[in-house]
Amino acid sequence: MITVAGDYCPLCGTELDRITVEERERRHCPTCDRIVWQNSKPVASVVVRDGDEVLLGKRAVDPHRGFWGVPGGNLEYDEHPADGAVRELREETGLRAGPADLTLFRVDHATTGDRAIVAVRYVVDRELAEGVPEAREETTAVRFDTLAGFRADDEINPWDEEQLDAVFE
Ligand SMILES: [Zn+2]
Repeated sequence: MITVAGDYCPLCGTELDRITVEERERRHCPTCDRIVWQNSKPVASVVVRDGDEVLLGKRAVDPHRGFWGVPGGNLEYDEHPADGAVRELREETGLRAGPADLTLFRVDHATTGDRAIVAVRYVVDRELAEGVPEAREETTAVRFDTLAGFRADDEINPWDEEQLDAVFE
């Protein structure tokens, strides 16, 4: 049995142990006799495309603070990914789009250490989004530019790089 320090049951606070279930080692609370599942975190993002330009925001929050990235973020538990994507777009850039205007583009999976995200990626044409983009709480700047333009002077969130390349394939 392996025990990891600082790894406690979210319900009762007991230190977790490990049991094997469905051929994988799982964290388990011996007091509640309950498995504490380790799941990926769902996030959603949206690429706003205007010809060969794309809208990116300079991140004011971790992770990847100071990098340019596609508007997006964590989903609420009761939120459809398309609803979350347009909410994040509004919060981070001020642009408004309807969830029905988004096209599902791709789904990515990424891990860092023992954490993982499942990223639902959308794309929308600039003409379907209303408003003028501006920096908001979670961004220090926003702009439309070509990928070459961003890469010439700026660092792009590495989680978004592959997605952005694929948008222009
Ligand atoms: Zn417990």
